[in-house]
Amino acid sequence: MSLKSKTALVTGSTSGIGLAIAKGFAGQGANVVLNGFGKPDEIERTRAGIETEYGVRAHYSGADMTKPAEIEAMVREAQETFGSVDILVNNAGIQFVSPIEEFPGEKWEQIIAINLSSAFYAMKAAIPGMKAKGWGRIINTASAHSLVASPYKSAYVAAKHGIAGLTKTAALELAPHKITVNCISPGYVWTPLVEAQIPDTMKARGLTKEQVMEDVFLKAQPTKEFVTVDQVAGLAVFLCSDAASQMTGANLTMDGGWTAQ
Ligand code: NAD
Repeated sequence: MSLKSKTALVTGSTSGIGLAIAKGFAGQGANVVLNGFGKPDEIERTRAGIETEYGVRAHYSGADMTKPAEIEAMVREAQETFGSVDILVNNAGIQFVSPIEEFPGEKWEQIIAINLSSAFYAMKAAIPGMKAKGWGRIINTASAHSLVASPYKSAYVAAKHGIAGLTKTAALELAPHKITVNCISPGYVWTPLVEAQIPDTMKARGLTKEQVMEDVFLKAQPTKEFVTVDQVAGLAVFLCSDAASQMTGANLTMDGGWTAQ
């Protein structure tokens, strides 16, 4: 399969799953638009590294996924830079762990904005261009938490259940236009997002670091192994292939058997 002549915009791709997905598309010849936060020199190294390693063009947008105007501008900028946005991956996400009665209202708003609403605004901006070209792929990084819940993650679970519903709705609307919309629902993937949850989970549940890893994270996953970012990227690349053209509106789990229980 080749994605040469395609452009993939991946939100939240300066790190973790998003970066692996962007590299996966670059590996198939697509130009990529990176987005997310981080140290400017590290981001530039990553961007330039993708161009050198894969022989594609890579552009970076620092758009803040809590700001609809910046999301629209990011999509426009990508279209102006590369001519189109053919593949949109809504991946940016954050986590916050706390009992509901202590959950700060601003954290709730921020998680809903980044993990759910940003996907709506990015799709709204990118869909007209995909319709005009008669081809498009939209992939939303959901989570096992789009299907099941865990305590102390109210905003995250609500946002991820929301993204699963948004995915199905968009899939139905776009089915006549050769634009597929799916979500990928990983279990625990070893990334900075997961590592950062350890201290708060230790506090919320009164556990040691080892207990959080064994009894909270991997407890849910019958394989007792973390998912890797490259495995998630492999599925994203497959969803852009011809073999996946009849897959739309699906919520694809990659969770070591977590949600089979
Ligand atoms: P990560 O922390 O490594 O990456 C998150 C990315 O989002 C970073 O690039 C960060 O800069 C970016 N980001 C955060 N806030 C942003 C904002 N306001 N605007 C723009 N970019 C912003 O985390 P990850 O684990 O790679 O998570 C990526 C996605 O995968 C998230 O949607 C997450 O919910 C989902 N996910 C992760 C896991 C896991 O176990 N790691 C499991 C299931 C789903």
